[in-house]
Amino acid sequence: MSDTATGHPELLAAIRTIPDYPKPGILFRDITTLLSNARAFRKAIDELVQPFAGEKIEQVAGIEARGFILGGAVAHQLSSGFVPIRKKGKLPHATASIAYSLEYGIDEMEIHKDAVKAGEKVVLVDDLIATGGTAEGAIKLLQGLGANVVSACFIVDLPDLGGADKIRDLGVPVQVLVSYPGH
Ligand code: AMP
Repeated sequence: MSDTATGHPELLAAIRTIPDYPKPGILFRDITTLLSNARAFRKAIDELVQPFAGEKIEQVAGIEARGFILGGAVAHQLSSGFVPIRKKGKLPHATASIAYSLEYGIDEMEIHKDAVKAGEKVVLVDDLIATGGTAEGAIKLLQGLGANVVSACFIVDLPDLGGADKIRDLGVPVQVLVSYPGH
């Protein structure tokens, strides 16, 4: 593991780190400064879609809430549909639901049961992967509907927390643009 941040310099420069948010000891990697930087936002989306050039991706699934912003842009660029994965109780139609682990306790996320069709190629998008619990839950929801999850994509990886390796162990390739040591 590297003890300095690695990845595209323009993206690293555009991400802001907030110490002790939301609680003491956490270094919050804030991508709102990347989103408001037109060059960096475009660069990040261009990098995220690059592996899928020429491939037909039917759906991009985004995890609430920052995964919606990135996933919408990725879906547009790939000419794919977009599927939201939301916190419990937010989706109006029939849902599939899964419990996933947070640092303290568990939460539930949901997807519309008719959002993806069996066999469709889906790319999962979120801003950051830490322990991987959130992404694992989302992948299980998608696979439970028969989706072929071809990749999970994140702007930020915290590799010391092992999330990206956990997702690779599920057989889903992981793409990240920048990595920070620690948590
Ligand atoms: P995890 O399930 O542990 O992989 O956590 C991933 C989710 O928590 C993502 O949706 C992130 O937005 C958020 N998250 C976890 N750690 C951080 C952090 N250090 N900075 C910003 N967001 C984080």
